[in-house]
Amino acid sequence: MTGGMTSLDSAGRRLPLFLDYPGLEKGLPYVALGRFPTPVEALEPLGRELGVGRLAIKRDDLSGAAYGGNKVRKLEFLLGAARRAGAREVVTVGFAGSNHALATALYARALGLRCTALLLPQVGAQYVRRNLLAGRGAGAALRHYRNLATLMIGGWGEFLRGRWRDGVWPYYIPPGGSCPLGVAGYVNAALELRDQIAAGETEAPDRIYVPLGSMGTAAGLALGLKAAGLGSQVVAVRVIEERLASGKGMAALLRQTGALLHKLDPAFPRADLPGPAFSAGALVIRNDYFGAGYARFTEAGVRAAELMRARAGLPLNGAYSAKAFAALLGDAARGELKGKAVLFWNTYNSRDLDALIAGVDYHALPPALQRYFEEEVQPLDRT
Ligand SMILES: *Cc1c(COP(=O)(O)O)cnc(C)c1O
Repeated sequence: MTGGMTSLDSAGRRLPLFLDYPGLEKGLPYVALGRFPTPVEALEPLGRELGVGRLAIKRDDLSGAAYGGNKVRKLEFLLGAARRAGAREVVTVGFAGSNHALATALYARALGLRCTALLLPQVGAQYVRRNLLAGRGAGAALRHYRNLATLMIGGWGEFLRGRWRDGVWPYYIPPGGSCPLGVAGYVNAALELRDQIAAGETEAPDRIYVPLGSMGTAAGLALGLKAAGLGSQVVAVRVIEERLASGKGMAALLRQTGALLHKLDPAFPRADLPGPAFSAGALVIRNDYFGAGYARFTEAGVRAAELMRARAGLPLNGAYSAKAFAALLGDAARGELKGKAVLFWNTYNSRDLDALIAGVDYHALPPALQRYFEEEVQPLDRT
C-alpha cells in the first residue's frame, strides 16, 4: 500500500502537481499514503434548502483508508521527507486532541517510523478523548506539556533521545504539517479539483469554504487555484487564536511555499504577497465564527454539525469544520450565496476509529492526559 520510493500515488497515477510541474516531481520528497482523488459530490437538496445556487462537498474526509481528513495530503510530502532523510522517528506538536498528531501517528506507523507527539493543553471534548486513545492505539508516544516553554525543553530531550537511540535525528513535522513542504499537498489538491472540473464532475466554484487553523490547507488551495487559473475565492474561517493564524502569517506561508515550488520548477507561479496577484479577494480570512477560543464549540457550529449529520450523514468537528460550515450557513442565510457555486471542503476524518480505540484504556496515557477523561467535556459537546 505504501510502496517504495516512487512519485506515483496509491492508485499508481502521477499526481497532477507532478504532471504540471516535472521539476517538482524531481525535487519534492513524496510517499503515497492516501486515496486520491477524493470524490466531489453535489449536496442537494441541502443547497436549495439553504438558498445556495449550487452546493457541493469535497470529500477529503475520505482521503485515507484508515484515517481521512486534511492532514493526509500534507503527510505524503512530510513523511516522504522523513524517509528521504533516513529518519526512524518523527516528532510533531499539537494540542491534546490534535487530528494532525493522530494522522501522523497512523501514517508514520504504516511506514515503520516511530512517532512522538508533543501535546499542549486545550479545552476538553469527546473527540479529544477519541484521538488520544487512537493515538495510543497507533503506538505513538504521547507527551503532555503545560505550556510552550516546557514543551520546547522537553522536545529537545526527545530529539536527543532519538538521536542517541537511532544514530540519526528524528524528523520534525511542524504543527498541522503547515510548512511549505506540507502545503504542497494542498497545492496538488487544487489541481486535483481543476481536473475534476475539467472532467465535468463538478463546476468551478465561486467560493470554497475551509477552516483556518495552522493555515496550510487554505494557503495550498489558494496557491494551487491560482496556478490552475481558477478564480474561486477561498473563504478561510479562522478557528484558532489570531496570533497563530494572521493575515501576515498567511502571507508569509504563501510566499515561502510559492518560492519553494518556483525554485524547483520555474513554471510554478510565484506568490509575492501582498500584491496584485492575490489582491482580488482570492483568499479571505473570516474572523466571525471563531467564538471564545480554540476548540471551544459554538452554538452556530453545533447547529451546523447537526445539519450536516442529518442531511449528509457526515460528522463535522466542533473545533474546525463545524465552524467553517457555520460560516457558509450564515452567508447563505444573508442571501450572499444566491446563484453561486459553493464548495464546502470537508477537512474532518469520517473513517471509523473504533477498532483502533478498542481495548485502549485511558489509564495507559501519561497522567497529565488522563484529566481529559476524568473532567467533564465542554457543555456544548453533545456528540
Ligand atoms: C487541522 C485541521 C484543520 C485546519 O487545517 P490547517 O491546514 O491547519 O489550517 C481543519 N479541519 C480539521 C478537521 C483539521 O484537523
